[in-house]
Amino acid sequence: MKIAVAGTGYVGLVTGVCLSEHGHDVTCVDVDENKVKMMESGKSPIYEPGLEELMVKNMDHLYFTTDYKKAYVDADVIIIAVGTPEKRDGSANLAYVFGVASQIAASISKECVVIVKSTVPIGTNDEVERLLNENPMELRVHVASNPEFLAQGTAVPDTMHASRIVLGVNDAFAKEKLLEMYEGFDAPVMVCNRRSAEMIKYASNDFLALKISYMNEIANLCEAIGANVEEVARGMGFDERIGRRFLHAGIGYGGSCFPKDTKALHHLSAQNGCEMRTVKAAIEVNEGQKYKLSKKARKYYSDYNGLQIAVLGLTFKPGTDDLREAPSLVNVPVFLEDGAYVRAWDPVGAENFKKRIPDEHITYYNTVEEALKDADICFIFTEWPEVKELPLSRFSELMHRPIVMDGRNCYRLEDVRRVPVIYESIGREIVNTIES
Ligand code: NAD
Repeated sequence: MKIAVAGTGYVGLVTGVCLSEHGHDVTCVDVDENKVKMMESGKSPIYEPGLEELMVKNMDHLYFTTDYKKAYVDADVIIIAVGTPEKRDGSANLAYVFGVASQIAASISKECVVIVKSTVPIGTNDEVERLLNENPMELRVHVASNPEFLAQGTAVPDTMHASRIVLGVNDAFAKEKLLEMYEGFDAPVMVCNRRSAEMIKYASNDFLALKISYMNEIANLCEAIGANVEEVARGMGFDERIGRRFLHAGIGYGGSCFPKDTKALHHLSAQNGCEMRTVKAAIEVNEGQKYKLSKKARKYYSDYNGLQIAVLGLTFKPGTDDLREAPSLVNVPVFLEDGAYVRAWDPVGAENFKKRIPDEHITYYNTVEEALKDADICFIFTEWPEVKELPLSRFSELMHRPIVMDGRNCYRLEDVRRVPVIYESIGREIVNTIES
């Protein structure tokens, strides 16, 4: 099958590469010339485990271009996978999706299927269909909704062995083409109408966001009453109706999806006269949670002026170089405004962070240990393996004052109690083996 993919971000590039692995001829289109040059030379512009290897393996039938006309003109299927960032009012910005739809309408020369993979508010596929069917050659364009459920950090296995493939189709031609495209994929396929498919995506993401915010509130209460949120989560997880996953408390969810998708669904629900108050609460809890650790740390230092602050992890989660909505982005500026010096470590996120927050008072280190050296306090924002595997004695051996504020509950409390440290985490007791 001849497939074109618009947008080579975390979704578009992974989708294109995985479809090429299944034998399709795939052309990936992006407006960013630098990205296209990189991909043409066999380099992935994003960090995603396993992606570059698969990309290089399929280079004989995987192409990259900025020339959208050439890519769309005779494609059987065109996948829209561009961004849908949030607007100031919380709604989804659909300018990129509609922009690609107009480019497709101006380029095609045969009947084809256009798949909307970007996460879009309910009814957007109808609008895309209207734009596409205004094409100058009066060709029939079939539009299908095929939302994406991959998670960054595991995007390649999540695509090759998806939890489900949701096909939102309103006609038989589109259904047949999509089933053909996904033939051989190891995943259950669910066929439904387009609006249901659009809704499945938001309903899934927002449910997960709710689950996280719920556990974060439970964690805050655990701290107040002396319970341990990890034990609580373990006890809850035995119940199959609840499940074991997504019960980890922390300093809030980030990333390119949960924050914007909760806001977009809340906006859509309010607009339609049935405001989702559960989703609104999840958003509010998450906002407060991001600042939880730096607020708690004020009991050790009333201001951070002149302090050396070690920051372990900058990305919103391990396994990705993506910083979108990461807790580090809101906390590091607080430290800098107070006059602190930040000693940052992240295995893949440092370059992106330098672009987002260029500041001469941030120094980047290649190892966790270098970042910890002589620090007055340490904040853990991402649970990278290098952080979890660090021998706990290194905090007291390297730091000026071993105060560790762990936003991701990286360590077991019984291990922490064996070393001289002040340790605060989320939803668990404070360990202080130094000061009585
Ligand atoms: P991204 O920001 O990483 O990538 C979007 C890409 O589209 C960029 O490279 C940009 O240059 C390109 N682009 C913009 N306009 C273009 C045009 N006219 N033609 C071609 N390329 C163009 O986005 P992403 O994280 O891959 O997300 C894409 C969509 O998928 C969003 O709607 C998102 O909500 C959804 N989604 C994301 C994830 C995730 O984990 N990132 C998971 C599921 C769904």
